Formats: sequence, C-alpha cells, structure tokens
Amino acid sequence: EAAALATAGTEPIRTPDGREVKLLANIGGAVDVADALAAGAEGVGLFRTEVLYLGAHEPPSYEDQLTAYRAVFEGFAGMTVIARTLDAGADKPLPFLPLGEEPNPSLGVRGIRAFRDAGHEHLLETQLAAMAAAAEGTGVDLWVMAPMIADAEEARWFAAKAREAGIAKVGVMIEVPAAALCAREILAEVDFASIGTNDLTQYTMAADRLVGALGGLQDAGHPAVLKLIAMTAYAGAELGKPVGVCGEAAGDPRLAAELIRLGVTSLSMAPAALAEVRAALR
Ligand code: PEP
Ligand code: MG
Repeated sequence: EAAALATAGTEPIRTPDGREVKLLANIGGAVDVADALAAGAEGVGLFRTEVLYLGAHEPPSYEDQLTAYRAVFEGFAGMTVIARTLDAGADKPLPFLPLGEEPNPSLGVRGIRAFRDAGHEHLLETQLAAMAAAAEGTGVDLWVMAPMIADAEEARWFAAKAREAGIAKVGVMIEVPAAALCAREILAEVDFASIGTNDLTQYTMAADRLVGALGGLQDAGHPAVLKLIAMTAYAGAELGKPVGVCGEAAGDPRLAAELIRLGVTSLSMAPAALAEVRAALR
C-alpha cells in the first residue's frame, strides 16, 4: 500500500472520458498551509474561515482578517483558493453572532442566515472586503462561497454582495436539500458550487450530525444523498459551471470515484486524506 501511495504521483487526475478532476485541501487557516502543500493539494476547495474565530466575543476587525487571509493566500500563489464566508452553527459557535436560544439549532439561524436574517449584514460586507483586499498582489485565484444557501433568491443576494466587494468568482455551498433540488436555478446566479456532504447528509436523512447514535444514517453514500449530488453535478455540467464536493465524502476513497462518476469536477478533503484518495483514483 505504501508503494501504491508513493507512485500515485501528483499529475492531475483524469477520467477515461478526459475530464480533469482537481484534488484540493480543506483548511482552517495558515497553520494548515504547509500540510496541504506537502500532501500535493492542487489548491484549496474549502477554507473554513470561522475556524479562526471560534469562541470570539468580538467580531474580527477588517485588519485582523486581512492579515489572516493574506497568510493563507500567499501560500497558494498560482492556485485557486475557495474561501467560505463565516459559517456559524451549533457545531461552530461564534459568540459575536448571538443566535439566540433555538429549539433546533441545525434548523435555525445559522450559516448565511446569521448575516441576512439576523441583521448582521455589515459583518459579511467587512469579511468580503477583507478577502478581496487580502488576495491582491498574492497571485492567488480567489473564489468565495457562502454556506447554507437554500434557494436562488439567497444565492442572488449573496452574489450581489460579493461582486460589490470586488470578488470575481462567486459561488455557494449546496448543503441544503432544497438547494440541490433547485441547483440549476441557483447555479444560474453564481459562478460555481461546492457540495457540503456533511450537512447535505444530515438534512437529507433528518439525522443530526452531532448525535452519535444516528451515525448509521449519516451516510453520504446513501442513494438519497447521491441522487441530490448527481442532480447538482448535472446542473453544473449543463451550465458549464464547476461543481465540487468539499464534505467528508470527498476524502473517503470508497466514495471518491463514485462522486466523480456522478459528474463532480473537484474533490476537497483534509490534507491527510489526499494521498489515499489520489491512489484510489489512479
Ligand atoms: C459540509 O457541510 O459538508 C461542509 C463541508 O461544511 P462544514 O462541515 O464546515 O459544515
Ligand atoms: Mg456545512
């Protein structure tokens, strides 16, 4: 097995019908850059920016964000980095975004909803501006996406905000079943999409990802989840827009080939998973 990993090389992965599939890294900040590059990541498919601010009681300033994002972007000169705007949730508390007591936090004011519905638009605007400024002069190809988009109207709202801030490539995560079912309408509003299989599985199977007893239902390889992934990838192919996967499923060697077969254009995973997935796809 070690020999197979060693000979897997770093040339791009290509399907028999000639599609190139990029293998990208999921990161949470500059601390992960070296691991991602050492593992042969061809770029970043998910920069979880909230990881930098977990537990913070004050919103991060424009200057703080500029420094933190630049430290990441500099490491990926000449490559694409897909940065996600802050994704607060029950599993990722951001105390400066008080979400209130909710009976069911995973169905509550989380992800993009925390900025729009809860009246914190200025925090999103600051983040987008800091991202755009941080990319300048680093040679990075910056793409920015929003988490927890539910429909085309939300996608349109986010895309307008991001473009206003000077972001050239705007996308959304597809992790709510409604978004997968309307992927075509959503993709018409943006430049790309990335499927978050962790939340997409949670919401499709109605099984809270934080409840270990429901682990059996949290299966991204379930036909119900795969159908939603296929629909999303198909919509991307129809419109000529990239659709990646950045949930844990992308880093599962048993699922990676299946995801590509369904039409996704990139797989983004923890750096530690890259070698095994690359070898499995070879
Ligand atoms: C996902 O939901 O699959 C995802 C990649 O985002 P997170 O795990 O950060 O919610
Ligand atoms: Mg998610």
